[in-house]
This record gives sequence, C-alpha cells and structure tokens, in this order.
Amino acid sequence: MKPDRLYFPIIHLALSINLGCTMVKVTTSEKRNPTPQQVVVGENTTLTTWGTIKVNKAHFFPSSFQLKTDDTIIYIDPVEIGNAEPGDFIFLTHGHPDHFSIKDIKKLLKRETIIVCPKGVSKKLKNITDKIYAVRPNEQLTLEGIHIRTTWAYNTKSVLLWIKAHPKAKENVGYVLTLKNGTKVYHAGDTDYIPETREISDVDVALVPIGGDNLTMNGEEAAKIINEIRPGIVIPMHYEIKNRNELKRFETLVNRKIKVVKLDVENQLGKNDNRGFGLY
Ligand SMILES: [Zn+2]
Repeated sequence: MKPDRLYFPIIHLALSINLGCTMVKVTTSEKRNPTPQQVVVGENTTLTTWGTIKVNKAHFFPSSFQLKTDDTIIYIDPVEIGNAEPGDFIFLTHGHPDHFSIKDIKKLLKRETIIVCPKGVSKKLKNITDKIYAVRPNEQLTLEGIHIRTTWAYNTKSVLLWIKAHPKAKENVGYVLTLKNGTKVYHAGDTDYIPETREISDVDVALVPIGGDNLTMNGEEAAKIINEIRPGIVIPMHYEIKNRNELKRFETLVNRKIKVVKLDVENQLGKNDNRGFGLY
C-alpha cells in the first residue's frame, strides 16, 4: 500500500477523535427499558437513568444520570434523557457526543440552572447560558451548598498509535459531589485506571465506566479502583449492553461488601414488565 493511502485513514481517525468524535451518532435505542430506572443512593436521594442509547449501531448503557434530593435536581452528562424536569445543576465531564448533547441541555435549562464543565466544553455553551463554571481537574468549589471536587479523567492506553480518546492534556473531568444532605457521589467520567483516583474515599455511590476498548477502564480495572475507593454502592456505566462478560467480570471481582447495582435491566426484565426496580 502506498504510504499516502495508509496515512489517510489514520489522519482521518485522528481528526475525528480530536474533533470530539463527530462521526459518532447518538440516538435513543429501541432496546431501552420503557420506564426510567431508579435507585435510592442516600437519604432522600434517588439516582435515575433513562437507559440504553444507540452509539452508531451499538446499544450502549451511557454515563447519563439524574440525582434528585428534596430540594435539588442534578444531571450528569445528560444524553437522550426523554421526558425530564429542568435541573438546578448540569455537570458535564467532557464533550464527546455520548456525554454532551446540546439538545438535552436546552431541554433541562431553567433560568437558574448552573452548568459545570471543562473549559473546552464551556466554549460550546456560550450562546445558551452565562451560568457556566468552567473547571479543571483537581479543583474544589461550593455552589448553592453542594461541594464539588473535580477529578482527573484520562486515558493511559491509546486507541491507535499515539492517539488517545481522552488525552490528559484535554483536561476532562470526573466529579465527587457532596450533596446538602451529606450524600457523596463519584462520577468517574471517561477514564482509565489512573493513580489520582486512589485519593477518592468515603463515597456513598460510585459511577464507573467498565466498557474498555481503549476508551475507558474495562471491568477488571474498574473493579480494582472500586476496591480501593470502597464506595457503599457502585453502578457500572459506559458499556455495550451485549457485553455481559465484562459486566460479569466486574461483578465477580468487586469486593463483596460493595453493592453492585446494574441499572441496565434490558436483559433482566421483559419489555413490558414494570414490576419496578431498585434497592430501597
Ligand atoms: Zn469520551
């Protein structure tokens, strides 16, 4: 093969990744459970997911959640959220289309909504609202009584040659949120197993990616970090729903004292089986 023919797909892929995976199409998946899945994660605190999305042709359980307390509604990486009430906060980990959706953000905005996001993402929101807090990894701030600590989120593994889907230089983030009622939630964003994560402790619920594929941690790496953080509850996210082996591997390797809650229930409940779900 002529070198220029070889270079073209590589350059094309590099551009796509750097431009935020513009070739990726995210839609609602027909494999989504008809009812949003909900779990109680702390005192008067529920966590809701709208379930499976479709990333190109793959059915995928995303990193998209709502946290709700008596007086606050928080969204993290809202994508294809269906019908939902506006939020007091929207936290964004990075700008990839399975985490960042202008369409959904617009739907969730009210006048008071505060958006917290990495600097790179904040530029894309300028025309929508001015209530934006641009953050970098390893920062702390308190907004409206909610303590926010941003964490590092990056890849150590490459997708191809030197190209990483989430380079450290991009300064994507994860979040440790301490809510007004004391519930502490860690959302890892898209990250590999990285040393900075070991500093996180005392969290009630951790949301971690397990999909692998050089995009994030796989099940084994996620279990390793979870066994170090030791949350009360862990919810795996960011994986193809047909990838049951990765999910099983994660579950098997997580310390038995930590409760693993799977909110992707497509394969556990029938399409019309609304018997409810959750840990109460
Ligand atoms: Zn990503």
